[in-house]
Amino acid sequence: MEKYSGRCKCEKITFKIKGEPKWKVNCNCNWCQTTSGGAFRSFVLFNEEDIEYQSEMPTFYKDTKTDHGRPMSNIFCSTCGTIIGIKVHSMEQQHFSIGILDQRKNININCNIWGEEALQFVNYSKNSEVYKKGYWNDTGEKMKIEND
Ligand SMILES: [Zn+2]
Ligand SMILES: [Zn+2]
Repeated sequence: MEKYSGRCKCEKITFKIKGEPKWKVNCNCNWCQTTSGGAFRSFVLFNEEDIEYQSEMPTFYKDTKTDHGRPMSNIFCSTCGTIIGIKVHSMEQQHFSIGILDQRKNININCNIWGEEALQFVNYSKNSEVYKKGYWNDTGEKMKIEND
């Protein structure tokens, strides 16, 4: 039974997901900025075994020369350009862009990574955690934020 679903704008790519998110995070790294065209990316991560594409697979652009050394793919629809998410090849999960999930209005994200690369106008919501660099499984140095 699927819990989450999503699609690109032209609906060439559609998928369903049966598990719960493994992590939810906003990433402010340079790679996410330059490959998305936005200030940061908001991700919901699911285990790959929980994801079922009901269409053809999206396009993967694999970048082996990323700033932080891990090969990563930008995943998108080759027809309408909707960014489906990214794949960090050293991880078992897939990062979905929050905006393509049908359930996005019900999802909150209060974890932020790569704060040291964030653009100057980025504000963090109350009760947010901001990590200086990347982190996974509760490790990493937190940054102080002023948002009250
Ligand atoms: Zn599309
Ligand atoms: Zn990033």
